[in-house]
Amino acid sequence: MTQPMLEAETLSVAYGRVEAVRGVSLTVAPGRLVTVLGANGAGKTTLLNALMGVLPARGRILFEGRDLTRLPIEARVAQGLSLIPERRELFATMSVEDNLKLGAFRFRHTARGKDGGGDLGEMYRLFPRLAERRRQQAGTLSGGERQMLAMARALMGRPRLLMLDEPSLGLAPLIVAEVMRMVARLRDEGVAILLVEQNARAALQIADHGYVLDGGSVVLQGDSRTLQGDARVVETYLGSL
Ligand code: ATP
Repeated sequence: MTQPMLEAETLSVAYGRVEAVRGVSLTVAPGRLVTVLGANGAGKTTLLNALMGVLPARGRILFEGRDLTRLPIEARVAQGLSLIPERRELFATMSVEDNLKLGAFRFRHTARGKDGGGDLGEMYRLFPRLAERRRQQAGTLSGGERQMLAMARALMGRPRLLMLDEPSLGLAPLIVAEVMRMVARLRDEGVAILLVEQNARAALQIADHGYVLDGGSVVLQGDSRTLQGDARVVETYLGSL
């Protein structure tokens, strides 16, 4: 078996007395696309925030064998983790291009220098729509374009594990399909992905493996094909086909 890239062991996160994540263990192998599914309030966002270091957690987080559990966010970014939060958090009054350049911020003291170097061209190749709109204010982009910009900005930081929190949120079905194709493409280009989604159908179509969270715990896991055929998943998350 391949050595996991990310390994979470019995992670728990509490808000005061309320435990939102309870003893969650999961792994992401290099180059794999793993999805975490669950209804509103299942603990998905809390789990991602714990993995990124936004929230403190009990348990253990290993990245390529190194223990990240007590490291601050910046140290996790330096190891190659990146999180695109649900709200995407772009700089609305700045141009598409300036948002992209900020994604390379962590390289500001390196030879790659101030402007993100060659990666801008790479992003415009991957996301041609962003190239067309490079001078447009980020706040005026459509929902789908904003999600693409959030992905491209994260990639400017050259993550090795990209975590996405509900990239399909608020998007029309056709645009969801486009965003998912892009997420799959990033996996094909070698970036490991941890994709949190309520849209189980869309996520399972592109994922290699999935975990189902309920009440803060993993209640089911398996390869995507198995989950797509699992009666509980079909009934609860996929509905009739
Ligand atoms: P959604 O899909 O709606 O974003 P989720 O699966 O991401 O849901 P979380 O946002 O992780 O779920 O929330 C898990 C539980 O923790 C919920 O019961 C929520 O109300 C609670 N919770 C989340 N954030 C806080 C907070 N800052 N303080 C207290 N409780 C919180």
